[in-house]
Amino acid sequence: MNCRNARRAMDDPGNKRPDALSEHLAGCEDCRNLRAALDATGSMLRSRHAGVVPDGAFATRVRARLQREPAQVLAAAALRLLPVTVIILLLLSWLAFTATPQAEALQGEAPTEDVLAWVLEVPEEGS
Ligand SMILES: [Zn+2]
Repeated sequence: MNCRNARRAMDDPGNKRPDALSEHLAGCEDCRNLRAALDATGSMLRSRHAGVVPDGAFATRVRARLQREPAQVLAAAALRLLPVTVIILLLLSWLAFTATPQAEALQGEAPTEDVLAWVLEVPEEGS
């Protein structure tokens, strides 16, 4: 067992290879230190919250909150994106306005007859 597998096995309460983990811990100081830190943290959490029993409505409150959360997350994301959307729309509007040639700018560029002749010109065969 390598360090990566040993650390996975330490996280897995249903570890199927406890002997391999013990063997690795015996030969690897880093993983042994990690295991000691995990054990100490677990002991501290168990001692601080020992005797805490959730009331009967705890599960109901958690389920209600889980069902409510997605809508709130989407609403918050939409609100955060609103200013960006407005800026993009303003930018696109400005680009559309400035990129469109104005009628005054086109006047005098080409005689109307030449433009009409060019539009109505039938392409020759082979071109
Ligand atoms: Zn290791």
